[in-house]
Amino acid sequence: MSQLPPEWLEEMNLLPVWRMRSAPTGDQGPVLQDSGIAQMDWPALKAAVATCTACRLHEQRTQAVFGVGDEQADWMFVGEGPGAEEDARGEPFVGQAGKLLDNMLASISLKRGEKVYIANVVKCRPPGNRNPEPDEAAACAPYLDRQIALIGPKLIVALGKVAATRLLGREVSIASLRGKLLDYQGRPLIVTYHPAYLLRNLGDKARAWEDLCFAKRTMENL
Ligand code: URA
Ligand code: SF4
Repeated sequence: MSQLPPEWLEEMNLLPVWRMRSAPTGDQGPVLQDSGIAQMDWPALKAAVATCTACRLHEQRTQAVFGVGDEQADWMFVGEGPGAEEDARGEPFVGQAGKLLDNMLASISLKRGEKVYIANVVKCRPPGNRNPEPDEAAACAPYLDRQIALIGPKLIVALGKVAATRLLGREVSIASLRGKLLDYQGRPLIVTYHPAYLLRNLGDKARAWEDLCFAKRTMENL
């Protein structure tokens, strides 16, 4: 990749700060009863998320964070859940990790909002930035599934263990799944590290870069 943007190079060399949120796992709890989510259009889905009380995370949210980007995106990136800044602003990945995610996107010539959609496993902020519990991820699953179905992305990239575990339906480690072309309901799925983890584990940035190049190559062949 000869045309790496300078921000990315700077991230790679100068910012050994990618931070980890440890990841939850285990069996997923009961799923939302069929409430028509799988048939909703965008406005109905957004309204449903905005007023959702299906799990305890609604209690402390400022607002639900629906997702952002191109509603016909080829690329879909799935994170874990909103943090404080996302909860305040109503958009995913707008804090430190989000800045890194934007640079990661730029490194493969992608841009938030252009052929890219970004969403989270849970739409409401887990208090204190803890990981979402499996029952919370399960309660929120129909919304993410509907986003995926409406968008129809060519490739899904799971950012970190929470997203990978949710999408694969079993406890997984990123290390064991990197570089593999996986599947979520018939759609190609690739996993890589969560940008917040990378802020803390500089040594894995190079691996994340490899994963993004693998994703880019995969997309080119889809
Ligand atoms: N981390 C996430 O997983 N999602 C966000 O939206 C922000 C930080
Ligand atoms: Fe509803 Fe998801 Fe928010 Fe839980 S996290 S209240 S399921 S929108």
